[in-house]
Amino acid sequence: MIKSYLMVVKQDEKSQNIANILKEKLNGILEYNESEPDLIISIGGDGTMLYALHEYFHLVDQVYFIGVHTGTLGFYTDYLADEIDELVADIKKGEYTINKRAVLDVEVIDENGTAQYYALNEMRIENPHYTQVLHVYINEEHLETFRGNGLCISTPSGSTAYNKSLGGAVIHPDLEVMQLSEVAGIQHNAYRSLGSSIVLGKEQTVTLTCDRFDGVFIGIDQYSYNLKPFKKINVSLSSHSVQCIQYRPLTFISRIKRSFIS
Ligand code: NAP
Repeated sequence: MIKSYLMVVKQDEKSQNIANILKEKLNGILEYNESEPDLIISIGGDGTMLYALHEYFHLVDQVYFIGVHTGTLGFYTDYLADEIDELVADIKKGEYTINKRAVLDVEVIDENGTAQYYALNEMRIENPHYTQVLHVYINEEHLETFRGNGLCISTPSGSTAYNKSLGGAVIHPDLEVMQLSEVAGIQHNAYRSLGSSIVLGKEQTVTLTCDRFDGVFIGIDQYSYNLKPFKKINVSLSSHSVQCIQYRPLTFISRIKRSFIS
């Protein structure tokens, strides 16, 4: 049963105002709890939702997420800024379903040990300075030696973000898969990689190794870090997932239409 909540709010006037109104309207319905909320309400856009997911990832197995849209796209978000009364009424009614969204486990292994990251949209290895060479293994079997700007591995929820700009497929978020897409791969008679996205499942681990590390960085959703020489990077579907609460029907198809077509 949902008894408490907290809000993560985009730093703009519109989002702050909506947050204040919502807080007032939820008074007496849910308790505001900063440390152990049952529900996290993000007010902003997908960027704010991603921030909230990272900020509270330590609670991911016990907390539900929902978004109110005041941003520019709002693919993740269920309610518009002018639908606060509907959200409050739906919370009061308490009828909902939970949609689990896949997360990627990313392990960067170097001589000092293993650094662990969780990606909700995608992880990217990119090099804006030099042609990056990456050796790609699937379950330790060599697939290709990629040359180009980089590689992106996305979750189904992240398939509509950077992956989509790379020409990757949009994937239904109920599927437990991850998608490897190329960032400007070189395809000619000297160098060739797959050239298309590949969709992999729970049983697969993608391993990346490389020989030259100048200027290469790793992106995890909205964060990026310079990579020091590493032995390998392993990417697989995590045993954790994000639990998105859905109070009213909003199909994946209608989300796609709303955000990309109509
Ligand atoms: P950001 O401003 O937080 O996000 C960039 C845009 O991507 C915003 O319009 C955001 O929507 C949208 N977005 C984020 N997650 C999405 C998703 N799952 N499905 C559809 N759209 C989504 O930028 P950032 O801080 O640099 O990076 C956050 C994410 O943005 C990254 O994980 C990456 O996937 C995406 N991104 C995409 C490109 C590209 O397509 N070329 C470039 C950079 C980053 P809102 O406006 O609602 O926040």
